[in-house]
Amino acid sequence: MKYVLALDQGTTSSRAVLFDQHAAVKASCAVAFDQHYPKPGWVSHRPQDILNSQLEAMRGAIRRGGVDAADICAVGISNQRETALAWDARTGEPLCDAIVWQCRRTAPLCLALTRAGHGERIREKTGLLPDAYFSGTKFAWMLANEPGVKQAAQAGTLRFGTVDSFLIWHLTGGKTYVTDPSNASRTMLMNLNTCSWDDELLALLGIKREYLPRIVDTSGVVGQMDAAILGREIPIAALAGDQQAALFGQGCIERGMVKNTYGTGCFVLMQTGETPVWSQNRLLTTVAWTIGGKTAYALEGSVFVAGAVVQWLRDELGLIQSAQESEAVARSVADTGGVYVVPAFTGLGAPYWDMYARGTIVGLTRGTGRAHLVRAALESIAYQSCDVIRAMEKDSRALLPLLRVDGGASQNDFLMQFQSDLLGVSVVRMRNFEVTAQGAAFLAGLGVGLWQWADLSAFWQAGDSFTPTMPREQAGALLDGWHKAVGRSQAWANP
Ligand code: ADP
Repeated sequence: MKYVLALDQGTTSSRAVLFDQHAAVKASCAVAFDQHYPKPGWVSHRPQDILNSQLEAMRGAIRRGGVDAADICAVGISNQRETALAWDARTGEPLCDAIVWQCRRTAPLCLALTRAGHGERIREKTGLLPDAYFSGTKFAWMLANEPGVKQAAQAGTLRFGTVDSFLIWHLTGGKTYVTDPSNASRTMLMNLNTCSWDDELLALLGIKREYLPRIVDTSGVVGQMDAAILGREIPIAALAGDQQAALFGQGCIERGMVKNTYGTGCFVLMQTGETPVWSQNRLLTTVAWTIGGKTAYALEGSVFVAGAVVQWLRDELGLIQSAQESEAVARSVADTGGVYVVPAFTGLGAPYWDMYARGTIVGLTRGTGRAHLVRAALESIAYQSCDVIRAMEKDSRALLPLLRVDGGASQNDFLMQFQSDLLGVSVVRMRNFEVTAQGAAFLAGLGVGLWQWADLSAFWQAGDSFTPTMPREQAGALLDGWHKAVGRSQAWANP
């Protein structure tokens, strides 16, 4: 039996999953690591924690699977996106902590870029809105504020990179310094049309090309994992941002196919084919992957608070004991009795982009009880996803055929049924839960020729399916109420 090893480096944990040559999961292992919050709104990771937890997860999965390294024919990497790292080319030593994608420390710089009138140009070139979320301003911040980074820049030994580049650099013993377009398209430094670093954007942020990795295909051998790590060399054959890996893992390989990952937040991606679609509805345009020199693009919209609203019900309100319990509680009432929860705890993401929106509960009456609130909170996850998907339909001028889902909260059957009812299309849940890792593994297997596209088609296996049962007028009325509720939450904290 041959195996493919997927490394899924996430925000709070590093995972490793071994897939056998029939794409069945043989073993997996996850290792959590510490989050650091040096100031309000700032989030950092220790680069060594990222690397060590990933190595530990990898060794754990191999041990649990009882697999010989000689039988692993490829490694594929998926990673938390936009997180920025800096290290020294001579030693590999990190030059500062990693600035995590959630970190808001470069918000003033982004505001300055917008005020100086660069917003439209950035959008045209990168498909992104100038926001602290993306890595480019994080690199610029390091250059301006971290003495070690400045010194390395002067000495010519500075290496900037996202998590993919950092891991591959270390896994190959410093031999390979690359990134792929799915990661590079999140830096605000890559030109979306050419998939190369853009001189105008580099100049705007004061970043030199020599500080950045070479951009290579998402799938294909980029280097060999050093023999010192697992006792023999293994080809590294894929690298992709986690959401794009999930899109691939869901089998969204044709134009118009859409996936939604229901985790802490929701990430909706639509594959849009070989030309980028510029959003008129405040979604992001991004690269899905580049395979064999051909790039596929995607539209993306994220919901900041999705599964997190369930954690809030459990941890802050004490209305439920566990996330799973939310389903039974929601089903114990026929509807929310007109109550809406808008979980705009950190503002609203796509398509509203209102950083001053705040959480709101509306429609309360004397008869409102715990179950109504729990149900309304769960429904808010589906409403928010629906808003993003409708924006995608407008941008792509195509109706959603069906929605493929994964992530922790997609295990909630009530939520999936409600999502299907709202959208009026089927919702299909993958049989394999590890969709992100699956995407990385499929891309890697393809990259070494273990699998062909035809094999992958056979591997993409749908599990449960939910079909709409609610009359469309009822769904429309519910959505009208939701939009009214969103209106009440908007601009609340506006100074
Ligand atoms: P992440 O990768 O963002 O950490 P996961 O995909 O592991 O997220 O999903 C975890 C999230 O899903 C949590 O926010 C949790 O509240 C939510 N969740 C897990 N199970 C359920 C469930 N049965 N019903 C509703 N939400 C759930």
